[in-house]
Amino acid sequence: MRIDFSKPFITNESEKFLLESLNSLNHSGNNYWNKKCIDYLKEKYHFGEVFLVPSCTAALEMGVMLAGVEPGDEVILPSYTFSSTATAILMSGGNPIFAEIEPNTMNLDINKLEQLITDKTKCIIPIDYAGISCNISEIQKISCKYNIPIMVDCAQSLNSKTETGEWTGTTTDLASFSFHQTKNYSCGEGGALIVNNAEWVERAYILQEKGTDRKLVIEGLKNKYGWVDKGSSYLLSDILASLLFSQLKNIDLITTYREKVTEAYRKLLKPYEDAGFIKCPKPPKGCKINHHAFFIIFDTSINKSKFLERLKNIYNVSAYIGYQPLHSSIKGKQLGYKPDDLPITEDLASRIARLPFYTELGVKKEYLTYACNSIKKVLDSIYI
Ligand SMILES: *Cc1c(COP(=O)(O)O)cnc(C)c1O
Repeated sequence: MRIDFSKPFITNESEKFLLESLNSLNHSGNNYWNKKCIDYLKEKYHFGEVFLVPSCTAALEMGVMLAGVEPGDEVILPSYTFSSTATAILMSGGNPIFAEIEPNTMNLDINKLEQLITDKTKCIIPIDYAGISCNISEIQKISCKYNIPIMVDCAQSLNSKTETGEWTGTTTDLASFSFHQTKNYSCGEGGALIVNNAEWVERAYILQEKGTDRKLVIEGLKNKYGWVDKGSSYLLSDILASLLFSQLKNIDLITTYREKVTEAYRKLLKPYEDAGFIKCPKPPKGCKINHHAFFIIFDTSINKSKFLERLKNIYNVSAYIGYQPLHSSIKGKQLGYKPDDLPITEDLASRIARLPFYTELGVKKEYLTYACNSIKKVLDSIYI
């Protein structure tokens, strides 16, 4: 048997919707299936405005522009994130300011946030790692004091709730989601930008439409569109939106399948955690999680490497390392960072491994059982 690290999930309706979209001969953005997805997301989660875009990376780029980041401005984000979060800042000429994380969730450490704020800070971009919300209510207390907007990089956390019981992406000016194939609900490549700040909605339509006011023409308010701002082609093809809708319709079913995977891993790992060998994620009280991923923090990076190697080589089960911290990456070093600027991030990133996680694992019991048995045997070979 072979267990992949991640696999997209195809629902009963995916093929039907794709064919309908194909035959509609309306394949560009903001058509029928885009609207269906947007209506669905607004109704279920009560987002402000929803923009379907080609990727979460594109959503982050748009969001940084909306927040008014100009060359020389600073944007605070955790170093422990995907490159997209930081790249989006560079695209507007901003300087990424990397923050530390804390070990229970691998999310931004709020106790180390305030000291990074300067009069150049234009935005804060926390992320929801592994679908666990980032303690956003506490981050907002700090950002409110300085009147700094927040965009949460919710790439991994659609259908999760914050520690105060609100859907992720609903409480800040901006939020971004990903529908990349590696995420819970996916369409190959895709994303959404949530704009909850009503004053920014009009400009978001312009940025999405290559800097034009084409939206006004579509709505019949103008008869010819003009070039009014910068922007890009931040639209999701309606063909991909049809695939996305087949996933969104089944979002709670998909989440339920994935919950089974989390439960199995928690049960399996508890003895090793109780013995002090490893640590598992500890979501803050009140958070609802969408079961995007599961990580283990090992006691040493050597044991983490042994675990990954043996799992792959002996059992053909793919687990994976976490992010390479951005501050100590090639680009981070160019920006002037040294690895020991953020020692906690550096240490945790060297000891973390992510277990195989995809929806089908929660559907086919024999796969999950094989993955769990293999993980147990490898942990025993290291610790017992
Ligand atoms: C996946 C991911 C992204 C990028 O998403 P794309 O849709 O591939 O652009 C950005 N940030 C985080 C935290 C992610 O997990």
